[in-house]
Amino acid sequence: MLNVENISFSYQKEPVLKNIDFSLEKGTHLAIIGESGSGKSTLLKAIYGLLQLDAGSVRWNGTKVLGPNFNLIPGENYMKYVSQDFDLMPFTTVFENVAEYLSVFEMDKHQARVDELLNTVAMTAFANAKVKDLSGGQKQRVALAKALAQESDILLLDEPFSSIDQFKKYELRHKLFPYLKERGVTIITATHDPEDVLGFADKVLVLKDGVQIAHEPTRKLYDRPKEKYVASLFGLVNELPIKMLKEYAETDAKILVYPHEFQISKESGVEVYVVKSHFKGSTYLIEGVTDSGQHVFFSNSHALKVHVKVFLNIPLPLVNKRMIKIDR
Ligand code: ADP
Ligand code: MG
Repeated sequence: MLNVENISFSYQKEPVLKNIDFSLEKGTHLAIIGESGSGKSTLLKAIYGLLQLDAGSVRWNGTKVLGPNFNLIPGENYMKYVSQDFDLMPFTTVFENVAEYLSVFEMDKHQARVDELLNTVAMTAFANAKVKDLSGGQKQRVALAKALAQESDILLLDEPFSSIDQFKKYELRHKLFPYLKERGVTIITATHDPEDVLGFADKVLVLKDGVQIAHEPTRKLYDRPKEKYVASLFGLVNELPIKMLKEYAETDAKILVYPHEFQISKESGVEVYVVKSHFKGSTYLIEGVTDSGQHVFFSNSHALKVHVKVFLNIPLPLVNKRMIKIDR
């Protein structure tokens, strides 16, 4: 069990983390999401013990993580942290980098172990290449393999796929996360990519300006985001006044709707005129505008002509789930 107890941290006098407080069961995968600068990397560093906290503490199974004032070499051996800048030895081979921390008493087993890890990150063909000759994405994959080699209880991953090509990212997520899950590793991934979160993370912690504004199971957070900022981290979302749906509504409340959730009708609903159709591969994202100038994005299986009128409907159960208070 990881306990992050009311931690705060400032760079010079500027507070960056404000009263972060959560706990995580062993084997759980937590995603930390938030816009750039919200404090994701700082929170990972704080958990790893790289920062001298202003307040609060971090515990793993009851034992306090000691900060840099207590540990000569920062970081705890039951935790591994893969930073955004990889931390590899450039003039040695991929194999040597991954094997760096493997036990010297089991040299005979190194080959098989490194082979397995390189296979997990799809880098088998590069075992003998020097790290300095690799692309950014390849270095990132080596850094991941090196972190896996050490079999820690907790793995902290900072934007783990940020440098990796789109199509390789997909494969790698599907290999890496189940590999770790099977081994009961507790994972904390800081990311701004919703693809890293949906389908992989059990829980999500949302940061906004260093404040933890949500900590919930992934599905629940997606279904019931409390504000547009949260929903936006999962992709494009509409924030529409309830009055647009029901003219006589007396509330100033708004509703959050993801583009694929609208039902399109030829007869009744909110009238919108098509402005543009954006090709998205499996669907089209259609941009429409109402008479009052409200822009709405909705999905459709095919493109729609500009100026065509359509009626949009929102399923009733969504109205209750997605109502939010007026902008703060
Ligand atoms: P994220 O990873 O979510 O993009 P960071 O944790 O890197 O955010 O940064 C959070 C805030 O802390 C930002 O405002 C950033 O400018 C500031 N910050 C990060 N690192 C340092 C540093 N070494 N010195 C001073 N300020 C920093
Ligand atoms: Mg970061």
